[in-house]
Amino acid sequence: MIALYGLCPIVCQDMNIDLSLLSGYPENVISQVKTLIQQGRLDNYLQSTYCESHNIRTDKALFTYVQDIKRNYMKKGSPIHKVSFDDRIDVLYNALGLHSFVSRVQGKRLKSKNEIRISSLFKKAPSEFLHMIVVHELSHLKVKEHNKDFYRLCHHMDPHYSQLEFDLRLYLISLDLK
Ligand SMILES: [Zn+2]
Repeated sequence: MIALYGLCPIVCQDMNIDLSLLSGYPENVISQVKTLIQQGRLDNYLQSTYCESHNIRTDKALFTYVQDIKRNYMKKGSPIHKVSFDDRIDVLYNALGLHSFVSRVQGKRLKSKNEIRISSLFKKAPSEFLHMIVVHELSHLKVKEHNKDFYRLCHHMDPHYSQLEFDLRLYLISLDLK
C-alpha cells in the first residue's frame, strides 16, 4: 500500500488524508480527488451523485435482495445458502464483502455451501454501493479471481460497476475524514 498523503505538504499539512485506498489509480485521478477534498467538495459530490438510500437493515432483507439480483442475472449459478451483514469483516480482513465456499463431506457426498457476508457499513451507504458490493460478491460465485472474466460479469450485472467501485473508495475516504 502506498501512503499518498504528504505529496503536497503545503496544502495537506493539517489534513491527515489517507488516500491509500486509491493506490492503483492513475496519479492525475488521485490529484483530482485531493483537490476535491481540499476544496471541501467531496461530500457534496457524493451526496449529489448518490442520493438514494435503501432500507435493507436485516440479514433477512439482505438475503432477499441478493437472491433477487441473482435470479435476474445468474439463474444457473450455484445456490447461496447464507447471506449476512458483518460488523467485523472490514476490521479483521480489511475487506468490505466476503464470499466463502465451504465443502464438507457428509457421508459419501461432498456438500458445499456458499455464504456471502457484507460489511455492516453498507446498511447506511447509498443503495448504489450496496448493489455494487453484492454484485461483486455474487460474481465470485462464478469467478474466484479478480480477472477480466470477473469484471465482465460485474459489468453485466451493473453497467456502472467501475465508476461505483471508484466512488465507493471515495465514500470510504469521506467516512474516514469525519
Ligand atoms: Zn473480490
